[in-house]
Amino acid sequence: MGYEVLARKWRPQQFDDVVGQEHVTRTLRNAIEANRIAHAYLFVGPRGIGKTSLARIFAKALNCQTGMTPTPCDQCDSCREITAGTGLDVLEIDGASNNGVDQVRDLRETVKYAPAHSRFKIYIIDEVHMLSAAAFNALLKTLEEPPPHVKFLFATTEVDKILATIISRCQRFDLRRIPLAGIMDRLRHIASAEKVVVDEDALSAIARGSEGGLRDAESALDQLIAFKGERIGEADVLSVFGLVSRDLLERLVEGVLRGDIPTLMRLVAELDAAGKDFQRLLVDVLYLFRDLLVCLNLGAESGAVEFVAGRPERLRELAALTDTPRVVRAVSVMMEAEDRMRHALSRRALLELSLIRAARAASVVTLESILAQVVALKQAWAVGGGETTADEPLSSQPPKAPSVVPAPITMRQEPTPTAKMELPASVGGGDASVLMDQWEQVADRAGRLSLRIKAALKDARPVSWDGHRAVIGLDEEFREALSVLEQPRNRKGMAQAIQSVLGVPCEVEFRLMPWGTVPPVKPLPPEKPADPAPVVTPEGRAGGLKGRTPGDVAQDPAVRAITEMFGGSVMEVRE
Ligand SMILES: [Zn+2]
Repeated sequence: MGYEVLARKWRPQQFDDVVGQEHVTRTLRNAIEANRIAHAYLFVGPRGIGKTSLARIFAKALNCQTGMTPTPCDQCDSCREITAGTGLDVLEIDGASNNGVDQVRDLRETVKYAPAHSRFKIYIIDEVHMLSAAAFNALLKTLEEPPPHVKFLFATTEVDKILATIISRCQRFDLRRIPLAGIMDRLRHIASAEKVVVDEDALSAIARGSEGGLRDAESALDQLIAFKGERIGEADVLSVFGLVSRDLLERLVEGVLRGDIPTLMRLVAELDAAGKDFQRLLVDVLYLFRDLLVCLNLGAESGAVEFVAGRPERLRELAALTDTPRVVRAVSVMMEAEDRMRHALSRRALLELSLIRAARAASVVTLESILAQVVALKQAWAVGGGETTADEPLSSQPPKAPSVVPAPITMRQEPTPTAKMELPASVGGGDASVLMDQWEQVADRAGRLSLRIKAALKDARPVSWDGHRAVIGLDEEFREALSVLEQPRNRKGMAQAIQSVLGVPCEVEFRLMPWGTVPPVKPLPPEKPADPAPVVTPEGRAGGLKGRTPGDVAQDPAVRAITEMFGGSVMEVRE
């Protein structure tokens, strides 16, 4: 016997063999047992999930010579003919290749005659939506008054293209995509019968790549056996189909969640060198994010909802790094990328850009974490409020965020928060953080000059400041914004804005930076306090805030600790 492709060899021959469509097979079996057979059925669903196989099994069940039965014998002439596709009374028409009116006109002619030697004359029309309008109309005539010995079984991937008058004359069944576990079970069964060893990770990769289509999965297995022989590992599947390993997908997603842009860039370079399909990669990354959302909301052992791409133990680790709102934001960035990938001139650049955006979206401070920090700050404040309360329960809890520590030290020395405190000597002595603290205010002031400046500054951040010279950075992607800001008039406006906020004249330079090196909108609190615990003079308490500018007050260490933590700025000083 010659070679037969797996998908054909393992085509289901009984309702019991059909994977993942129990809702359909049960109804059809019941209809046969109750002898309530409609004259037209429509099977709807994506390709390769068993629509025509189901139609053939149904045809055998109707015409089996042992009598109409939900379990056709597969031995009688009728069953064997249908399996072989040679039956006189079961005619298969492929709508995709015979879309002329003639075929259906023939059908209208032959429909009148009784079946040659079977119970019913059955027409199986695959891809029925491909029939021409004229063919549809001819078919409709037959469907309106079908002879009692005729049954129609239609299959389609695009039900929207079928006339409503035809659909309304059919019993319609919507077939489902087959769950991954179902496909993996079936492949495992086939592999063991074919005496081929396939790793679990390889099975998972094949199932993932076939996206719920069993026929595609079986064809893939076929191809792999031809390519690799009797032992198939994950790496074989990945290389044959241009897929990316689960491990690498998990590392990409972890990079996004940690905001680790260098790692993301490195991984993309590796993938590019290996010639991976970025469109497919994006789909897999989205599946993994989707699994992460399931894990975050239902737990790693939910059982009810299956994971598509991730392994429960890794998903649990990833979930610990993040929360639902962040993942949702990252997902929306990646979905946009998937949309644009098809038309992108440089897929690699788009992928890099999207991963960076997703990493930023995933690391923005959420309201929940701000609230947690406020609680920690309040506790720390209470601890610092006076040694007399040291034995109270609140004070026994250390503040949650270590970065909050500088604030309580300040408060311990100065219980009155509105009191005047000694300021550092100069405004401009240090790194970009001084300017960063005031950035919103500076950008707001410069933005008043023109809407173009305002828009351009949205993506700009200070990267260094030495008291006389400010360097403002923009990600490479914002080249256009740079050209706006560099116009002499706008550069001058920017310098004036900085001067009016910080009170010192300065020069401004705008600079394009490599992706991901421009500081984020909301700076994270520094690892260590920028200044040692401040000295608060007794005179300070009496002095009040009279005559102090916002820039001035912003330098107060306690105020700085708070503005850095929340990425805010001092807008106004009131007594
Ligand atoms: Zn039979």
